[in-house]
Amino acid sequence: MEIPKKMKAAVLYGLEDIRIVERDVPVPEDEEVLIKIESCAICGGDVKIVSRGIPNMPPFGEFIIGHEYSGYVVQKGKTVTEYEIGDRVTVEVHKGCDRCKNCRAGNYTACLNYGDVSKGHRANGFTTNGGFAEFAVNHVNTLTKIPENISFDQATIITTAGTPLYGIEKAGGYIPGETIAVIGPGAIGLMAVQCAKALGADKVILTGTRDDRLDLGKSLGADLTVNAKQEDVPAAVLKFTEGIGADLTLVAAGTSAALQTALNMTRRGGNIVLLAHFDDPINDVNIGLAVLKGMNVFTVRGEGSSTVHSALSLMNKGSIIADPLITHHYKLDQLNEAFTTFRERKGNAMKVIIHP
Ligand SMILES: [Zn+2]
Ligand SMILES: [Zn+2]
Repeated sequence: MEIPKKMKAAVLYGLEDIRIVERDVPVPEDEEVLIKIESCAICGGDVKIVSRGIPNMPPFGEFIIGHEYSGYVVQKGKTVTEYEIGDRVTVEVHKGCDRCKNCRAGNYTACLNYGDVSKGHRANGFTTNGGFAEFAVNHVNTLTKIPENISFDQATIITTAGTPLYGIEKAGGYIPGETIAVIGPGAIGLMAVQCAKALGADKVILTGTRDDRLDLGKSLGADLTVNAKQEDVPAAVLKFTEGIGADLTLVAAGTSAALQTALNMTRRGGNIVLLAHFDDPINDVNIGLAVLKGMNVFTVRGEGSSTVHSALSLMNKGSIIADPLITHHYKLDQLNEAFTTFRERKGNAMKVIIHP
């Protein structure tokens, strides 16, 4: 295709100030491709950027937000042989610097040069420009080819699945026969339920406060759902596990109550993985329980360890599905309205997808 010089893009001009404006179409460097974007999903991370800002983000007036996107490769840098023009691809956020201690060990989401573009680090939609636009450039390391029977919309959900997959990997990875508890039935929690089932967990428990989400979790494979507004969650989990507790608890809600619940309902010697971002300091949590019960507490910052590739493979086999999570579609021009829908959960909004 003929690459235009200008494109439409959503630029952050200040907190709570997104404007759809014209920008130059970016040009890929040697190891990058230009993507013509078809779909880009709104994520809780975007709301945080828009409402509070984050460290290392590009300046107001320049920053194109959006990080969960998919589209066609339309232009390639000099050294790119892994992808062809016309390939359908989706992206993960983190491109490590490939030169720090963590990146050399494969731990690129914990890059020691996070935010330093001059050292080769990229986190599109966080520290470099992202995907609420007609085009974006991505380093080859962040790309995954989309299988034929997966749509662009479905492919935007793979980072949502990559996060719990990475969390399970961090906690040892092998879960057949285990009981996995998931706290928080948002998009990540509902993907966590599906991933745990797909990887062979014996029983999966989902807790939260909204019955419609818990019911959806049940239809996606949860064996037990517990509404924290109606029941004592740790008591219900202990009863379900014959007094032992969950082997692994995935925390997909960033609150003190969620963390305390995890500490109370995970078995002695069990694992807790924090998937959620905690915006505020945590108070009144008895973290000493982790020591008393000999539990391990892990964290993941989004997808990592190429788990988006595993997620896409699971999706291609039908072991995890994205459609029930996708609730709304908007045009790029309607991005502000789309954000309102997402933030206020209008019409039970969960994943809201933007089409340039
Ligand atoms: Zn995200
Ligand atoms: Zn690095």
